[in-house]
Amino acid sequence: MIEPDKLLDGARVAAEIRDEVAAEVQALAARGVTPRLDVVLVGDDPASEVYVRSKAKASAELGMRSVTHALPASTGRAELEGLVDRLNADTEVHGILVQLPLPAAIPSAAILDRIDPGKDVDGFHPVNVGLLQQGRPRLVPCTPAGIMELLAREGIDPKGRRAVVVGRSDIVGKPMAMLLLHAHATVTLCHSRTADLAAATRSAEILIVAAGRRGLIGAEHVAPGAVVVDVGMHRVTDRAVVEKLFPGDPKKMAAFEKRGAVLCGDVDTTRVAPIAGRITPVPGGVGPLTIAMLMANTVRAATLRREETP
Ligand code: NAP
Repeated sequence: MIEPDKLLDGARVAAEIRDEVAAEVQALAARGVTPRLDVVLVGDDPASEVYVRSKAKASAELGMRSVTHALPASTGRAELEGLVDRLNADTEVHGILVQLPLPAAIPSAAILDRIDPGKDVDGFHPVNVGLLQQGRPRLVPCTPAGIMELLAREGIDPKGRRAVVVGRSDIVGKPMAMLLLHAHATVTLCHSRTADLAAATRSAEILIVAAGRRGLIGAEHVAPGAVVVDVGMHRVTDRAVVEKLFPGDPKKMAAFEKRGAVLCGDVDTTRVAPIAGRITPVPGGVGPLTIAMLMANTVRAATLRREETP
């Protein structure tokens, strides 16, 4: 359990961002533009289906249009490229998101490279990655962008502080490190070959964890007073694991009894929260921010296009 004064409330900040995005959507609508997000889903991965549904729902709630293109797992590369080409050419479409992972037979990089960088609301296209690297961000990956919003709106300025990012994925870790660097933090990027992870993470005043390893970060990894942001997301269905992760937490146990599963992150929150200065919960931390920033990126793509169109 996280004490209220330590809570970094991603859900509250996400709601704030969504309100602002809804106002921007209205302003665009007054000028005859309705931002539209097209999501491409290939195959029937249940987790991907849930993500895609929540993206469509969020778009509708904010007054945006959203179209889902659900294709069978047997879809070939040429067919998917054809769809991306059509969406690139369609002036009604402002944002294109290809839900990952794609079936193994389709090279993700080739598909992501094909998306018009101006419509790349995930921020994964090499042009957008390069612009971020150069400190001229245009469309920034949603999860790290959401974490920067969280820090800013909670009054946590990375300038001059030691920030450690655990995980070096293109989706979270690398862009996170770059954003913190541009915000003038001194950044360390850790990964699975980091020799002494605990020594590195204990140096952090701001610790961002995106390793995809349940409960990886324990009390021994965190310096007193550190700001801890937990990106990890895991569904736990084993009662013994739930009891170990959340001993004496009646809320979590009740949730487990009701649903047969609970969510947890890469941080062992029960042991880390008493040490940390501020900490995000799972759920209700980074997840809602990611979706809010996807909506913000779609509006940004629509706005940039409007500004760039003669
Ligand atoms: P990923 O592509 O699997 O990357 C994981 C990274 O963590 C890799 O760089 C890996 O190192 C590193 N790592 C793995 N084990 C480690 C260890 N024991 N010590 C130090 N580093 C370790 O994962 P991702 O896409 O970045 O996602 C990370 C987590 O965030 C997942 O749980 C995912 O579900 C979650 N996520 C949540 C959201 C959200 O909105 N809440 C969004 C995106 C992702 P190597 O490079 O050396 O292999």
